[in-house]
Amino acid sequence: MTNIYNLTLNDLEEYFLNINEKKFRASQVYEFLYKKRVKTFDEMTNLGKNLIQKLKEDFFFQQIKIILKQEDVDVKKYLFELLDGQRIETVLMYHNYGISICVSSQVGCNMGCKFCESGRTKKIRDLEPYEIVEQILQIEEDIKERISHVVVMGIGEPFDNYNNVLKFVKIINEPKGIAIGSRHITISTSGIIAGIEKFMYEDGQVNLAISLHAPNDKLRRKIMPISNAYTIEELISVIKKYIAKTNRRVTFEYIMLDNINDTNECALELANLLKGINCYVNLIPYNETENIEFKRTKNNQIMNFYDILKKNKINVTIRKEFGGCVDAACGQLRANQNIGG
Ligand code: SAH
Ligand code: SF4
Repeated sequence: MTNIYNLTLNDLEEYFLNINEKKFRASQVYEFLYKKRVKTFDEMTNLGKNLIQKLKEDFFFQQIKIILKQEDVDVKKYLFELLDGQRIETVLMYHNYGISICVSSQVGCNMGCKFCESGRTKKIRDLEPYEIVEQILQIEEDIKERISHVVVMGIGEPFDNYNNVLKFVKIINEPKGIAIGSRHITISTSGIIAGIEKFMYEDGQVNLAISLHAPNDKLRRKIMPISNAYTIEELISVIKKYIAKTNRRVTFEYIMLDNINDTNECALELANLLKGINCYVNLIPYNETENIEFKRTKNNQIMNFYDILKKNKINVTIRKEFGGCVDAACGQLRANQNIGG
């Protein structure tokens, strides 16, 4: 038995054809789920009693639960409990261009980045598509507004859960469903090359962000164990291929860690590495956490770093900081609940 929110419109059409029903039933169900937002099959009145009974036998509806919420002016953070008791978190941010949500894709993460709370707990399991979809549905219900942008940047490495994450994208992108445009969806990866290779052949215009965080292998290996598996040279080479294939601009995320990767030399090295690549760099002021010793780069050094990239003609932005007082960086709320990471 599977959760009804695990199905793409296409899956649902196939299901109905298999049980000798008309294909359009799938669109009806989608409308009930994502436009009318019903929570039971009984509310899908125009399907008829027999079909409702059949759906009840084949699918379940039960949802993940919000168990904690922290709020600030422009940010809300949610802790969810899944049906098996595991916990994940989701962050909502208000921008001048709309409302974005940062969803989790796994319980824990196997990549083990040294600065990241999520990486301190080994992956417990992948999230199923419905567990990612429901983060959006439940938060929209809570705020009574529509979310316009989605980033897969919460707990977990999306390309270590490739199929479920891509299915999630298909479900929320469906015009008959939640209908979030693919240009408004971003997947962030720590750089799993096999995932990027696959992703470039997917339909749609979903954005790709790469967590680079260092301009050379020596430094990257100190903070990101994944760089023992793939060198920066290999990473840049697959990204060039991705850009050539898709014609899309890539975002490089660069977390600013005091005295680790934030020197002027690092900025110059980064500028040289990215010269001529259709990309922009997003500098992320580090969100300090009690459990990890890294410190946030001072503002004036963030500005120096920014200026050096600018002077070298690299597109660069500094990420607006949200919710310093609500444990806003990924994994922190969960960690501070003392629930194993
Ligand atoms: N695993 C994927 C996506 C989730 S992590 C990835 O690494 O890209 C999303 C982003 O949050 C990464 O760029 C990560 O470096 C950043 N991040 C992790 N801990 C942080 C912290 N304490 N402060 C600021 N950003 C953090
Ligand atoms: Fe995993 Fe991303 Fe955290 Fe690294 S930064 S441990 S890849 S969630």
